[in-house]
Amino acid sequence: MAYGYADRILRVDLNTHRTWTEPLLPTEVLRKYIGGTGLALYYLAKETPAGAKAGDPEVPLIFMTGPLAGTRAPSSANYVVVSLHYDIPYAPGAGHAHGFWAAFLKHAGYEGIIISGASEKPVYLVIDDNRIELRDAQAFWGHGTRETERLIKRELGAEEDQFSVACIGQAGEARLHGAMIKNDRNHGAGKGSPGAIMGCKKLKAIAVRGTGDVAIAHRDGFLDTVAQWEANLFVADEGCTTPLGALWHDGGMTRQHKVMADRGMTAVKNLTDYEFGRAFSQAYMDACKEWIVTPKPSYNCKIACAYDLKITSGQFAGFTASMCGGGEPFEGAAGMIGVIDPGQMIALTDLYDDIGIEAGHGGSLMGMVFEAYNRGIITKEDTGGLDLTWGNYEAYTELVQQMIERRDFGGKLTGDMKDVARALGAEDLLVHVKGASINIHDWRPRWAKLLSQIVAGTGACHQIESPRLHTDELKREVGDKPEKVFDGQKKKLWEDNLGVCMFACSGVKHVLPLAAKSVATATGWNDFTEEDALRVGERTINLMRLIAVSRGFTKSNEFDVGKRLLEAPTGGPAAGVTMAPHLEEMVNRYYAVAGWDVNSGCPKQATIKRLDMEDVANWLGIA
Ligand code: SF4
Repeated sequence: MAYGYADRILRVDLNTHRTWTEPLLPTEVLRKYIGGTGLALYYLAKETPAGAKAGDPEVPLIFMTGPLAGTRAPSSANYVVVSLHYDIPYAPGAGHAHGFWAAFLKHAGYEGIIISGASEKPVYLVIDDNRIELRDAQAFWGHGTRETERLIKRELGAEEDQFSVACIGQAGEARLHGAMIKNDRNHGAGKGSPGAIMGCKKLKAIAVRGTGDVAIAHRDGFLDTVAQWEANLFVADEGCTTPLGALWHDGGMTRQHKVMADRGMTAVKNLTDYEFGRAFSQAYMDACKEWIVTPKPSYNCKIACAYDLKITSGQFAGFTASMCGGGEPFEGAAGMIGVIDPGQMIALTDLYDDIGIEAGHGGSLMGMVFEAYNRGIITKEDTGGLDLTWGNYEAYTELVQQMIERRDFGGKLTGDMKDVARALGAEDLLVHVKGASINIHDWRPRWAKLLSQIVAGTGACHQIESPRLHTDELKREVGDKPEKVFDGQKKKLWEDNLGVCMFACSGVKHVLPLAAKSVATATGWNDFTEEDALRVGERTINLMRLIAVSRGFTKSNEFDVGKRLLEAPTGGPAAGVTMAPHLEEMVNRYYAVAGWDVNSGCPKQATIKRLDMEDVANWLGIA
């Protein structure tokens, strides 16, 4: 028995509609990659045919939990979806989500699911403890994620909380860039566009119910450790500012979004208007004071950043939106195109979640289009008559509809984002890293976070924790930021492998020793240390890079960053200052501390050997 782990992986071949289980990998591999992102990337590196492209049937789509998922560890609700990145030709993609899906999968007895092939007709997968079934999903095709969750539960004869459903909406069905997977209404995995890959496989949803438990090796020691971790959730670690969980608890974004505005980080009007960002944050918080906020915690979560929001006044009075906990969804869905009416902000965010498109992608794309229109780069002639003046809610919702249906002007926005921007003559306006969206805030005042978005191995995403960096980040100078980014990535990517939410880790007192001890007591690996944990994180960074290099990454790709992100902000604390002149030095220093070749960005042989990753390098042809 593999303590801490479910001891099976579920395999699904959608070409033949065959499903089977296989044992989890041996302990020596688990200790190296742990679970979550690391283990999923390990499978991806091993099983992806050379030369295959994202969305090809033979490329696996991998759902992975982690040894702490579904246990009493704090916020043990995380799963990751890994495949080739749909928006970056050489990168792997990894999107995280929370809710109840991961815990149910673990309780059903599966550590992860590896899906290959593609179905001819839409199907959905049912996992009900030991019962596995692929069912016809034709009746749900064309429905949004909200309705799909509801209809599938009804078809399964289940109460609302008995099954957890992860599914795609119309964006995934249309295989749009930015398409996400949603589950449990308030949660979703977006980075890498995994919804588009589910769409390519004609897999509409995965419904899961699990009634078992996770076997723990040293139960008393484990429970003591996770109790201490939980007690520390809102206490800052040494050298950190307030933990994110302390800011965002019980739908904290509705009270604290001003934090983003004060730091000049609110993503509005395609990152052109700091003052509008302040007004945007204030409008949101003022409205939320009047409306009804109901925290919606994920499995075993005391933070509960996610929330339902019932609008009680204005155009959308009576509507209840299911929100995740961050600011990205409403900054991306509304702020980036200049919507400031709070009801419209919420309606747009819920629309994106329903059709299943990630707000970071939507915000980057639509922010570029709206700015191009407002600057006269494109006109009503180009847009088919749509008036894309900043904040025009009606025109915007029509444009999104056109995009999903691949028709009219919206139909021209469905390709690769950089190609779309180039075709519109607006390439310089596109907020992107390597052709994909970022976590949609304005990172220009925060150089370490911006560098981390640029070098992140699965496309721009959160790979370091904010509270540990914040004080230094206010100094807009290079300092030791490249080295801090690498250190931060090691810690964050270790945490991404555990099956717990990042908000239960970010800035939390003693989280590194507590998480390492949680894994040691859960698995029975009594000699597992903090150093082992950080080495797992470092291996995960290198897995991402080795896969990218094997697929054609070169150092010049590191500097494929939208011009807008490297311009100085025109207002706020970083007005007039840009990281751009320092970027090359920062990347070179990051490579040096990572043990990567400074000319190619490839891990050196000595690094591969030190991390005991020769097998992965061999599979990928990097000998
Ligand atoms: S902190 Fe938020 S995202 Fe994380 S597990 Fe809790 S409710 Fe879910």
